[in-house]
Amino acid sequence: LTSSPKSSGLSIIHIAAEMAPVAKVGGLGDVVTGLCKALQKRGHLVEIVLPKYDCMQYDRIHNLRALDVVLESYFDGKLYKNKIWVGTVEGLPVYFIEPQHPEKFFWRGQFYGEHDDFRRFSFFSRAALELLLQSGKKPDIIHCHDWQTAFVAPLYWDIYTPKGLNSARICFTCHNFEYQGTAPGSELASCGLDVHQMNRPDRMQDNSALDRVNPVKGAVVFSNIVTTVSPTYAQEVRTAEGGKGLHSTLSFHSKKFVGILNGIDTDAWNPATDTFLKVQYNVNDLQGKIENKIALRKFLGLSNADVKQPMVGCITRLVPQKGVHLIRHAIYRTLELGGQFVLLGSSPVAHIQREFEGIANHFINHDDIRLILKYDESLSHSIFAASDIFIIPSIFEPCGLTQMIAMRYGSIPVARKTGGLNDSVFDVDDDTVPLQFQNGFTFLTPDEHGVNSALDRAFNYYRNNTEVWQQLVQKDMNMDFSWELSATQYEELYLNSVARARADNPDT
Ligand code: ADP
Repeated sequence: LTSSPKSSGLSIIHIAAEMAPVAKVGGLGDVVTGLCKALQKRGHLVEIVLPKYDCMQYDRIHNLRALDVVLESYFDGKLYKNKIWVGTVEGLPVYFIEPQHPEKFFWRGQFYGEHDDFRRFSFFSRAALELLLQSGKKPDIIHCHDWQTAFVAPLYWDIYTPKGLNSARICFTCHNFEYQGTAPGSELASCGLDVHQMNRPDRMQDNSALDRVNPVKGAVVFSNIVTTVSPTYAQEVRTAEGGKGLHSTLSFHSKKFVGILNGIDTDAWNPATDTFLKVQYNVNDLQGKIENKIALRKFLGLSNADVKQPMVGCITRLVPQKGVHLIRHAIYRTLELGGQFVLLGSSPVAHIQREFEGIANHFINHDDIRLILKYDESLSHSIFAASDIFIIPSIFEPCGLTQMIAMRYGSIPVARKTGGLNDSVFDVDDDTVPLQFQNGFTFLTPDEHGVNSALDRAFNYYRNNTEVWQQLVQKDMNMDFSWELSATQYEELYLNSVARARADNPDT
């Protein structure tokens, strides 16, 4: 196996289930790549471990090759062989683990949503640590993400530290507490964790179902650093309402728990260089933005009669969290207000997908409304560029990336004040917010009236004062949503944790 080159920075290993653009379902993929690139830029040695999914975008992996080794890892009382691949994604070194397990864990044509996800990802978490042990790596930080790789934290301390993989501090980031990956306690044994030791209230036992284990809770308990993806969400999840059953655990561990607002990858999301766009543009050349609007209308068969007719965009997973009923309402409200609406989204929930298919069919030849119900990266870029207004009416939103991407493309957000939206979108009519931060339209109550109160104001601003609107567009495009600041905060957490460990154990 390859060993780590010397570096004056920290050695940081991310173990994750997603990484944009090769394996992306939502924001997690963006965050892993964006944060890792920013940390690498700051001089750290950053490596990533991913499953080798059959459905990855292989054309975005450079120099992919299999290593001439077989990695054996434990599962269900046996050792299973894994093939290890290495490649470069967005300039970052990535290890891909391909289990030679008869259940073909990552050969399913999709990333998640399989009946045995708990098995698939507990297998992967264990194999990833085995890879680090056998390759002789001495990472300073092992950073795992969401429930799929939350197993890393208890596995590291219970099984791998005694085996000699003991140089690291563990950081766990929860991107969404809605997904905790709970399962019957007995399932934990497969990856080698001791069910009786782990299924305790102060460890991995689920707070509401005592016969179940909760990987996210386990990672909160067993990690040195626990983060989530915005300061407001970090507060919300410590309340009974927002914590999805984990509020007491998070409050108990609040000293090591912090919310850091995600950034966006400003190379990947840059209207001045974006090759998905019909025309590139920048803050000093907004004609290019108009040309993208005209091009998208043509592409989708929407009316091009009035270039000034405002276009509202929405790009999202269609799940209850995103306020699907409010998105539906916003489509009809936009129609009443005389605008155009373009929705790009898909749903893992059958009845929601069906409902939106119904709406899509209803408007199939409509001049002003188009619903595209699939995942389409290229089209997402075109919609960010073409739209004037971008709507995110979430019921809760740990961070949210689309509001930041929209602003970078000059599309003004209409957002509900919750989670990371509350930390990144500030109302133009809120006098308590300094002028330089006012960048969008917000509402608090997640109902139709709330949506109207913000969307109607956005339309009024757009229609009645072209100059003020243009200044707002330029202000938003100039806002700094890069990873620079957030990566510095992660770096500080890492360094403090490493320093504390060294102070406690001067010999390591
Ligand atoms: P979440 O992680 O909850 O899905 P985020 O706002 O944090 O939400 O991140 C969503 C990311 O996924 C954004 O980059 C967005 O552009 C992208 N995305 C969501 N749905 C689609 C889709 N149907 N097609 C293309 N990209 C999508």
